[in-house]
Amino acid sequence: MRDEDQDKELFNELSHDGYVGRVLHSIEHGKEKGVVAFFCPGCRCCHLVWTDPERGRPRWGFNGDFDKPTFTPSILVNPQHKMGEPVRGNYHRCHSFVEGGNIRFLNDCTHELAGKTVELEPF
Ligand SMILES: [Zn+2]
Repeated sequence: MRDEDQDKELFNELSHDGYVGRVLHSIEHGKEKGVVAFFCPGCRCCHLVWTDPERGRPRWGFNGDFDKPTFTPSILVNPQHKMGEPVRGNYHRCHSFVEGGNIRFLNDCTHELAGKTVELEPF
């Protein structure tokens, strides 16, 4: 596991100016730095990941590679519980590990790629 200082060093070396990689885009998100987006082939939409080491939670470790990104820990979109309360009705859940440019979907996803690993798509 990488320590916080290494995270900060790597983060400061990255371009934060709308950089576009093969499968990852650095995006403007208000005043926040280090927000990146990738296209999720399970949800057919983009997910955002916050990588600024100065940020509070949630925040992810990032290997700095815009072509073959790795984030730690897993990325959970629309969890079944919000603030400890179950979400009623239909919900969509996407839970994945992004590792070396691949996205590994866990079995608790509600979309058809649950349990599968696929390459991230350029966008
Ligand atoms: Zn997704």
